[in-house]
Amino acid sequence: MKIKFLGTGGCLGTPQWNCNCKTCTSDNPKNFRLRPALLFEIDDKNILIDFGQDIRYQLIKYHIKKLDYAFLTHVHRDHQNGMEQLSLQENIKLWTSEDVLEELLAKENGMLWIKTRNPSIDIDVLKPFSIGDVKIDLIKLIHQKDYIKKRVACTGYLFKSAKFSFAYLSDYNDIIEKEKLYNLDLIISDGNNWKTTGTGHVGIEGAIKVYNEFKPKQMLLTHLNHTTEHTEVEKYTKQFGNIAPAYDGLEIEI
Ligand SMILES: [Zn+2]
Ligand SMILES: [Zn+2]
Ligand SMILES: [Zn+2]
Repeated sequence: MKIKFLGTGGCLGTPQWNCNCKTCTSDNPKNFRLRPALLFEIDDKNILIDFGQDIRYQLIKYHIKKLDYAFLTHVHRDHQNGMEQLSLQENIKLWTSEDVLEELLAKENGMLWIKTRNPSIDIDVLKPFSIGDVKIDLIKLIHQKDYIKKRVACTGYLFKSAKFSFAYLSDYNDIIEKEKLYNLDLIISDGNNWKTTGTGHVGIEGAIKVYNEFKPKQMLLTHLNHTTEHTEVEKYTKQFGNIAPAYDGLEIEI
């Protein structure tokens, strides 16, 4: 199985427009981050997690020629606003959790527009299933309340095979289904900013707590905003264990 980070930035990407901070003016290509998206390749099937504003560019940049499944974590612009691109793929299955699907259908007018453009798209609630020997499941998360104090549902994803197990947790400040997270090889976690904030992100501080609680063999941070300079994060997190910031284009073969 291959994992590729197509984007590791926060909701505004890095560099951020009109910002002169050290991350935004850095020459280190690891500080150039598109909106968060991840690609898994299992037995010739391509699974995309999230499709925000940059997804068209990401699919072209990384020469991704087909998608079999697209998983959505939640209905925020940096994760869902590139959905139109999925209408260009035949027979793609779009999956998410029940509460995220409810929000998606409400926001996108029942998805009629995308079905009109491409009737072969299938949109449904993910039930645990397998590709080859890799089992795929959801992990319920708590994200934020938006400006009208409505809860935004968010889901993580869990991948387990006899050889390797990992979870993808983006945009959360708490985890509901904690029992699913013990003894994993890898947790990919939100690292939006240095501290846990009231905006629905555990950030680096919270990710380290998650690492200490669930003790994965490795943790990689994603959804990093411009306050988190790559080299500084790398230097800081390694003192807590096998934790490091991911970066755009990072590929792991497992
Ligand atoms: Zn986000
Ligand atoms: Zn900046
Ligand atoms: Zn979000």
